[in-house]
Amino acid sequence: MTLTTSTRPGSGPREADWYELRLVVPPEDDDGKTGSVGVPILDVKLGEIYDEVLRRNPGETEFHQAVHEVLDTLGPVLAKHPQYAEAAVISRLCEPERQIIFRVPWVDDSGAVQINRGFRVEFNSALGPYKGGLRFHPSVYLGIVKFLGFEQIFKNSLTGMPIGGGKGGSDFSPKGRSDGEVMRFCQAFMTELYRHIGEYTDVPAGDIGVGGREIGYLFGQYKRITNRYESGVLTGKGITWGGSQVRTEATGYGTVFFVDEMLKTRGDSFDGKKVVVSGSGNVAIYAVEKVQQLGGTVVACSDSNGYVVDLKGIDLDVLKHVKETRRARLSAYVEARPHAEHVESGSVWDVACDIALPCATQNELNGRDAATLIGNGCAIVAEGANMPCTPDAVRLFAEAGVLFAPGKAANAGGVATSALEMQQNASRDSWSFEHTERRLADIMRGIHDRCLDAADTYGTPGNYQAGANIAGFIQVADAMLALGVI
Ligand code: NAP
Repeated sequence: MTLTTSTRPGSGPREADWYELRLVVPPEDDDGKTGSVGVPILDVKLGEIYDEVLRRNPGETEFHQAVHEVLDTLGPVLAKHPQYAEAAVISRLCEPERQIIFRVPWVDDSGAVQINRGFRVEFNSALGPYKGGLRFHPSVYLGIVKFLGFEQIFKNSLTGMPIGGGKGGSDFSPKGRSDGEVMRFCQAFMTELYRHIGEYTDVPAGDIGVGGREIGYLFGQYKRITNRYESGVLTGKGITWGGSQVRTEATGYGTVFFVDEMLKTRGDSFDGKKVVVSGSGNVAIYAVEKVQQLGGTVVACSDSNGYVVDLKGIDLDVLKHVKETRRARLSAYVEARPHAEHVESGSVWDVACDIALPCATQNELNGRDAATLIGNGCAIVAEGANMPCTPDAVRLFAEAGVLFAPGKAANAGGVATSALEMQQNASRDSWSFEHTERRLADIMRGIHDRCLDAADTYGTPGNYQAGANIAGFIQVADAMLALGVI
């Protein structure tokens, strides 16, 4: 047996000068996909809280970005409700309740011992048990898990369901690994994680690199170690062993339901709209499916090796076969659709569209991409992924009057349906596809309206980003006040 160590390529907790991060917009990376922020927060009190976050969490740039984005919109809330500042609610929200980092040793097919790092950040449980997915991707480090966990607090609050915020994952990459290797990794991961989770404590689910297969192996190991069939401990389970109808489709469908509500505010619909979706994973595939059902045409989608343009409309059966059945690269799509083009360099956002749905990963759509989309007449951008648009891109959309839906609102359908799965598990019930999809559509409509109401009330009418942050924040903040200083 040989011993090797897997490390996260390319990134990691970076040494950073917090002062520089606060005041200076750093140059974009070579690929122009930086997510760093530097625009000062205008509200003095919130600016001080942000400085403290930078000081206490050096190098966690994605976490800084997520905190900056929320704090930047809360000035009008503090002006109206000083009690939140008096009880240090925002500072408490920025500090996770618990952060768990652990070693994950496992044996690969060649007999070599591999070491990965596992994370679970239990961020806030004011509204309910921690709830949020697990991400398996080589780029995972504490800063990514904390940005996702922080966003999850507000997203879960926006759903109106009793769930707190958390997130976890590992720098393990399932890509290119055999089924046996993925299973052994998941078992090793759960061998530590099981002691921290539970139906009333913390309920993980999937995210990038964690789909039905991984949830199955994780649940199997949890059951074996605890000797309990505790369905409510994980969501995203298979339909025959405690899962919910529509959970697989929920995030993509929910994003499209949200955009449908945005279109309705302009007396419009998906009918005849040209749509570009980035990614070709779980969120992207089911966003494509629902767009097509509502009469739109998806002309392009992508993976990390390039993008496919199919002006006749992405063929969903081919896409699912390539990505779900074969687990192949997207370039294989053109084997079955020879008129389509696979582009290896460049950006999927160069493809002209009316509606853009970034559904791949954080900071995948930067200022340059936003300018291209605006130039091509794109009127709506909704984040199926978490924080896929850089701050520059979001600012450009606002200036150009493009309707912009942030991920914590637009992609909340996944976690909302996870909460429906928990309800079904608790009552030992299972609902039909139609009933569950109707519940999802209602929930997305509710989130949409809550964002617009909060934006109106706090002086930024039509601003979904401010509305999502404010509506999500107020509910958590009120619960934190009620529960005392804990
Ligand atoms: P997934 O099934 O693993 O798919 C991720 C997709 O994004 C893959 O097509 C992947 O391509 C692509 N991708 C990853 N990194 C990329 C990069 N740097 N450039 C271009 N493409 C890249 O994951 P998912 O569940 O769909 O999640 C996608 C996003 O949605 C994430 O931000 C996640 O946090 C968010 N989200 C997911 C859910 C959910 O229920 N799953 C809920 C809310 C939010 P490769 O295969 O080439 O890597």
